[in-house]
Amino acid sequence: MKTDKRNFAVLHDDQLNKSVAFSREEREELGLRGLLPYTVSSQALQMKRLMENLRRKESDIERYIQLSSLQNRNERLFYRAVIDNIEEIMPLIYTPTVGQACREFSQIFRKANGFFISPEDKGEIRKILDNWPHEDVRVIVVTDGERILGLGDLGANGMGIPIGKLALYSACAGIHPRQCMPVMLDVGTNNEEILNDILYLGYPHKRIKGQAYLELVDEFIMAIQDKYPKALIQFEDFLTPNAYALLRKYKHRALCFNDDIQGTAAVTLAGVYASSRITKKAFSKLKIMFLGAGSAATGIADLMVRAFEAEGLSNQEAKERLWFVDINGLVVAERTDLMEHNLPYAHHHEAANFLEAIDKIKPDILIGATGSPGTFTKDVIERMSSHNQRPVIFALSNPTSRAECTAEEAYKWSRGRAVFASGSPFEKVTYGNFHFKPGQGNNAYIFPGIGLGAIHTEASMINEETFLIAARTLADQVSDDDIANGAVYPPLTKIRNISLEIAVNVAQANYDNGLARNEKPEDLRQSIIDYMFDPTY
Ligand code: NAD
Repeated sequence: MKTDKRNFAVLHDDQLNKSVAFSREEREELGLRGLLPYTVSSQALQMKRLMENLRRKESDIERYIQLSSLQNRNERLFYRAVIDNIEEIMPLIYTPTVGQACREFSQIFRKANGFFISPEDKGEIRKILDNWPHEDVRVIVVTDGERILGLGDLGANGMGIPIGKLALYSACAGIHPRQCMPVMLDVGTNNEEILNDILYLGYPHKRIKGQAYLELVDEFIMAIQDKYPKALIQFEDFLTPNAYALLRKYKHRALCFNDDIQGTAAVTLAGVYASSRITKKAFSKLKIMFLGAGSAATGIADLMVRAFEAEGLSNQEAKERLWFVDINGLVVAERTDLMEHNLPYAHHHEAANFLEAIDKIKPDILIGATGSPGTFTKDVIERMSSHNQRPVIFALSNPTSRAECTAEEAYKWSRGRAVFASGSPFEKVTYGNFHFKPGQGNNAYIFPGIGLGAIHTEASMINEETFLIAARTLADQVSDDDIANGAVYPPLTKIRNISLEIAVNVAQANYDNGLARNEKPEDLRQSIIDYMFDPTY
């Protein structure tokens, strides 16, 4: 790498630094002699040292801190380690550990790695964006911290989420870290515990609401479009009503999507497509019940309607395949407490609690997105098993401690018949003679590839078709071996290739549908491969 920097400056530049991997020639040329111990390590050896240190730590939050300081010190070693150890490191830099990292953000803070906007920046957001040191930003992940994972309002402590998601964009899809920008729209917090914490680093006031909130978001979107017109904006962990309102408002006006709604939908749909290969039931015939009727579940249902329509069902027929149960029971048209996004799925039916609803509707598939652990009880799994030879059970709530049931419970209570997937990782489970490797419906299978396809085509927007394409592509990556192990997702170790396949298909569709704003390269796949950031040195 060519640089004018020398000596300490090189060692303190996260992008240039190779530490003990600088060769003798580089040490001479860059004025590093004397500043490093004698032996020159390969990157592979550095990684071995790193992984041994990481495994020696006593807790995951310590591992998170170690990885985050490596990211700030030697970016290429960090990404090489993440890519080569993705199954081990992803849960450390993203869910579940990132949840704890967010809770403790103000306590463990060392360096600001993102962009913070508060109500005091109103009228000046475009101006302060010029303070960001990178010119060619292509992916922005933004949160207002109001619904971080299943943990609620964490205010500015939620910054760990955009940082973690963008690390996955770089690791899983090779989007260069300099083209990624984590943003915290710090509009305050209503979390009293956080407000009373003297170490809290965010805007220490109650959240701004209503018009003031919407105006700040609007100014942010306009400022981004002006400064970074090719950038994709990913909305992340907004409170459900805001998540829907912002998506509705901007999806046709800006290159944006909401990962909690649309990314989750695509990854779950992919799992459902793949589950049909195990249950041998045609996708077009499935009846699906959701426990939880928030942004995640509704987003999944909205995409499933599209997927059923693609199989020839009418919009009405598609919606009738989908049933919701929330904290107050079966979501039916007769209820008066429903939110707007529930109404399309509120069918005419008598009231029922969850167990009664399973018995009456007899769904093929149960999808939990409640944030409430233990809601898939023994009774629930047994009822599903009595109606289905292979009940499909997806317990999507994150982190692992919030899953509706554990993998072991699903297999045990269904007597080894469940097709199980979860939002957070579970270990392998042995039941009788069977060894199950539960699949993780991780959004990281989807969003990096979609982002890569979108930015490669300089897309004007992301439409629903994009998520269908991504879901089908992901389902096609599930091998017969995965299916034989009861997994409806491929191993995360294939993530770079999966992201590439999704990007190629999304990009192709963008060129076909007029959403691309640049010329199609002669060899689309090769040009995407060439773009992907490779952290090897
Ligand atoms: P939300 O707050 O918008 O909705 C939660 C819903 O669950 C509400 O409808 C509520 O009534 C219902 N609910 C809560 N407790 C319940 C109970 N005991 N019984 C029945 N219904 C109950 O939240 P959301 O954004 O939809 O997210 C829900 C969960 O989904 C979170 O835990 C999140 O971690 C998870 N999620 C998973 C993925 C993934 O696996 N890929 C992605 C996004 C969200």
